[in-house]
Amino acid sequence: MSERTVHLDGDPRDWRCRKIRVRPRRWYATVELDRDGYVDAASARGHAAELPASYTDAVEEVREAAVDRLWYDGFPGDFVWSSGSRWVSLSVPYTEVEAAVEALRTAELDHDYTGLEALAGRLALPVDEWLAPGERQLVRGVDFHSPPGVFLRFLRGKAKRSGLRLNGRATAGSVWVRPTLPPAQKELREMFPEQYPGWVDRWSGHVEPDGVSFRPWVGGRDQDFSHRATAVHFRALKSAVGSDCRCGRSLKDDWDSGQEHADHHTQWALGVRVPKNLDWLGDLAVVTTQSPIAWRRLVSKVARLPQRENHYDFSSWSHLGEPEETEDNVRAYLVKANGYVIGYLAARDTNDHRSWDLVDGSRYGDVDETMRPRIDLVWVADVYRRQGVGATLVQALADDFGSPVAEVSWSTPISRSGRQLARRLSPDGVWVS
Ligand SMILES: [Zn+2]
Repeated sequence: MSERTVHLDGDPRDWRCRKIRVRPRRWYATVELDRDGYVDAASARGHAAELPASYTDAVEEVREAAVDRLWYDGFPGDFVWSSGSRWVSLSVPYTEVEAAVEALRTAELDHDYTGLEALAGRLALPVDEWLAPGERQLVRGVDFHSPPGVFLRFLRGKAKRSGLRLNGRATAGSVWVRPTLPPAQKELREMFPEQYPGWVDRWSGHVEPDGVSFRPWVGGRDQDFSHRATAVHFRALKSAVGSDCRCGRSLKDDWDSGQEHADHHTQWALGVRVPKNLDWLGDLAVVTTQSPIAWRRLVSKVARLPQRENHYDFSSWSHLGEPEETEDNVRAYLVKANGYVIGYLAARDTNDHRSWDLVDGSRYGDVDETMRPRIDLVWVADVYRRQGVGATLVQALADDFGSPVAEVSWSTPISRSGRQLARRLSPDGVWVS
C-alpha cells in the first residue's frame, strides 16, 4: 500500500479543501482527516469549527478499539494523537483502511457516525470475556488468533489496567488464564468509585464450578503453587521498629528503595573495598597529608562511615588537595582484612594535655605540655568490632611515636566505646586533649 490522499471538497487545489491522507506504517496504517484549512476558513467567517461530541466520541471509540487490536496483533509500541478539531487521525489494521476512510468521509460530510461505530464494533475484542473469573483454557483459532505468547502479554496488560492479577501460561496452541482480584485493588475501586466508573467486582466471590478442567502440570517454573491457596492476613503493630539504623542512616523507605542505605550499610558493616590499583603491602597502612591522592581519597571514604554513624558535622579527614605538610603531622592508620579497610584511626601530635583517671565524672588533672600523639578518632567496621582491631590501631600509633601506649592522648569528649578501649589499654588513666 502506498501513501495516498482523498479530497472531500470540490477543488483539490483549494487550500481550504478537507482531505483524508492514508499513510502506511510497519504495523498499521494511519488514516488522517486534515481539516486545517477548512477550520481556518470557517473561523474567518465567524463560524465555529468544533467537532460535535457525538463525532469525537465515535472517533475515540474507534481509537481505543484499534489500539487494543494492534496490541493484540503484536504491535509493541505506543500511540500519540493530536486533539482538537483540525486533524482527526486513526491508526487501523490494513484490513480496515478502506472502511476507516469511508467512515471518516461520511462522518465529516453527512454527520453520519454509523460507519465509525460499525468500525469500532468490528475492531473491539472480547476482553471482558477473556478476563472473566475462573481457570480457563483459551484456544488459538477458537478464542483468539494471535500467537499465544503475544496474546498472553496483551491480556496481562489489560488485566493490569483493570486491577487484576493474571495467572497465565502460554502453551503451543492455547493460553491458560485465571484472573483474580487482589483485595487491595478491590478496596481501592470501592473507595473511589468515581475514578472507576462502571466497575463491578466479578472476581472476589468466584467459586470454580464442579468438573472444571484444571491446568495440567507441564513442569517448569510456571507451575502454579498458589492455586487454591488461602490469603495472607495482616495485623497492625503498636510498637513499630525504630526509624534509624545503627550505621547512622534512616531506615525509612526512601526514593531509591533504600539502595543508598544498603550500599552505605554494607561499607559500615564490612569496611571499604580497597581499590584494585592500590599497592597495599602488609596489613596496616599509614597515610599522611603528603601521600598519593588515591590513598588520601580512600581515607576520606572510610572517614565518612564514623561521621555518619556518630552524626558528626565534619569529617575527620579533609586533605584531598595537593600534597601538603601539616604542622601537627596529621595522619591516618588503615587496617586491611579480606580486601577491605576495616579499621581507621585519625591522629595528630599536640602538646596540650591533661591527665584523667577514666572515672566517669571525675575532673581532669593539670595541663602537661609534652608532645604526644593524639587520637582524633578510632573506628572499626561493625562485624570486626570487639576483636582487638581498635587496640591494634592505638598500639601502632604509640609504637610509631616511640612511646608506651599509656602516653597516647585521647581527644575529648571520648565516646563510650572509646572509653572502654582506653580502660583496656591503660587502666590507670590516660591523657586527654
Ligand atoms: Zn544501616
